[in-house]
Amino acid sequence: MINIQQLQKSFGELEVLKNISLSIPDHQVVAVIGPSGSGKSTFLRCLNGLETITGGTITVNGHEISMKAPRKILQREIHAIRQETGMVFQQFNLYPHKSVVENVMEALIVVKKMERGAAHKIASDLLSKVGLAEKEDAYPSQLSGGQQQRVAIARALAMEPKLMLFDEPTSALDPELVGEVLKVMKNLAEDGMTMVIVTHEMNFAKDVADRILFMADGVIVEDAEPISFFENPQTERAQKFLRQVS
Ligand code: ATP
Ligand code: MG
Repeated sequence: MINIQQLQKSFGELEVLKNISLSIPDHQVVAVIGPSGSGKSTFLRCLNGLETITGGTITVNGHEISMKAPRKILQREIHAIRQETGMVFQQFNLYPHKSVVENVMEALIVVKKMERGAAHKIASDLLSKVGLAEKEDAYPSQLSGGQQQRVAIARALAMEPKLMLFDEPTSALDPELVGEVLKVMKNLAEDGMTMVIVTHEMNFAKDVADRILFMADGVIVEDAEPISFFENPQTERAQKFLRQVS
């Protein structure tokens, strides 16, 4: 469960997130959409402490990010959130000199201090889950972009996150590779994973998300179920955006 109260984020003079308040219950799949520069990535990065917020509070599974907290406590809370949150970016950022299975095992060994055999078993299972059982011993450079992104998803899942954050996970892919990544994400959603997904894939948002957050100029302008958002957007901002992307 995520609870956000009056979240504010500025970079110097530039106010990027303006008093955002909302809650996301467990198992909900939320798609964040909106024009370029509206604050979508910044919003996502605030959720796991990758950006220092300048106002308000964010609570993720009971761990609170608040600038009012003493620094030590804040760091401990952010650490706890990161342990329970997987994040997948546009760029896959795999370790090029490690094999696919080693990429997935890495956090299990380094962070969870698991022994190699146990970590290998978990990594193999996750690679099967994302359809890459055959590629365990390949190196990232030998994979397509879609395959690399599926490894990145498996790697994030290895930490058994309670929450998955995705920032335009398919934007760097050739069009024919987008579907295989979205399918893995759809399966995750069907398994009940709580997900916040910044995406330009409107059909995916329509099909898989439980809820759409439409963001413009650092504000959540619309917060609605996909069917009502896409068929009956309430604001001129959203209507214009939907005309441009369709
Ligand atoms: P896109 O769809 O292009 O990815 P976005 O909605 O994700 O856009 P953000 O990346 O969150 O937008 O950026 C929102 C605003 O904050 C932009 O004006 C951007 O220039 C600014 N911004 C983002 N990161 C920084 C930073 N580290 N320092 C200064 N300004 C930043
Ligand atoms: Mg972005």
